[in-house]
Amino acid sequence: MNATIRLFDQDVRLRAFTAQVLCCEEGKGGYDIVLDRTAFFPEGGGQMGDRGRIGEAVISDTHEKDGVIRHRADRPLTPGAEVACEVDSLHRLDMMQQHTGEHILSGLICRTFHCDNVGFHIGADAVTIDFNTVLTPEDTARVERLANEAVWRDQPVITDIPSPEALAAMTYRSKKELTGEVRIVTIEDVDRCACCGTHCPTTGMVGQIKILSCIHYKGGVRLTIVCGMRALAWANAALAENRAVSQALSAKQGELAEAVERLLNDRDAQKLRADRLADHAFDLAARDETGAVRVIAAEGLAPAQLRKAAGRLAEGAALALVLIPRDEGWSFALSGSVDVRPAVKALCAAFGGKGGGPADMAQGVLDGGDPEAMRAVLATCAGAGTP
Ligand SMILES: [Zn+2]
Repeated sequence: MNATIRLFDQDVRLRAFTAQVLCCEEGKGGYDIVLDRTAFFPEGGGQMGDRGRIGEAVISDTHEKDGVIRHRADRPLTPGAEVACEVDSLHRLDMMQQHTGEHILSGLICRTFHCDNVGFHIGADAVTIDFNTVLTPEDTARVERLANEAVWRDQPVITDIPSPEALAAMTYRSKKELTGEVRIVTIEDVDRCACCGTHCPTTGMVGQIKILSCIHYKGGVRLTIVCGMRALAWANAALAENRAVSQALSAKQGELAEAVERLLNDRDAQKLRADRLADHAFDLAARDETGAVRVIAAEGLAPAQLRKAAGRLAEGAALALVLIPRDEGWSFALSGSVDVRPAVKALCAAFGGKGGGPADMAQGVLDGGDPEAMRAVLATCAGAGTP
């Protein structure tokens, strides 16, 4: 089949056009339509394929193989028919903004830090770009500023196919060795790159370039960015979240970090106070436990206090069991002057659960059981390990 005529190469702004259906084949979950000419850009170079309408059919994706562009349609079209076609302009603008934003940023980063762009992907929410160099937060802040200055200058994005001689004399970015005709995209003093994608005619159309994060990745860095309408959506989402936190904390926007810090300090102080109160309540309960077998179910005790409490309760006792309630059943610590391990076995056998530890201190969980029933079980074990 002949290669499809690529209308988007001639006019990147073209959205509505007419074409002839050359072929229609049923595929997985739809139909593949081939036209004699198309303004639908096929997936490639990190950019998603175009969407839109061809006649009555809804197009969800566009692909290319050996120069033939296939449009994924939700219904069949009749070969030979002349059809009115329309590219989804918002989706395309989104793609052009992300793609051109990537050119600007990658061009500036590769020039400034003498590195290569080694990966690029336009995702549903954000764009990732990988570089084989390390960038500091100051570096990314600097290039982000330079990239947005290039947007504000509203520079032309020039696309041409230079002669082999001119190309040989040219310095440009390319991910692979290229042969034959090479399409070069130039943004003066910013970027020169071999690329077949669709780009904004001028840098101003990109709107804004925002770096969201820069993380270490495969010995270099991975930048996550949003451009144009995605940058606006991101700012709106961040603002909405900011507003919700501001209302929840009754704090002014711009003073949220301090408000959260105050809240965390308050929480730590409360926790300290609650632990002290629980300790005190435990000591009061322990005053009534003076026998050889001692059992206390302590509501307010934190798991971290459990062992220490059992140790305290065990002074002068054969077996001392401290329980704190959990979602279902109890957490426990068992200490004493006798070997606690047979007692743990007996408790787990009687009430279900598991536990273990050295002879003088065991910890575990019990599936349920009444503390007084546990006292009765422990009483049978209290003499077991005594010499
Ligand atoms: Zn490009």
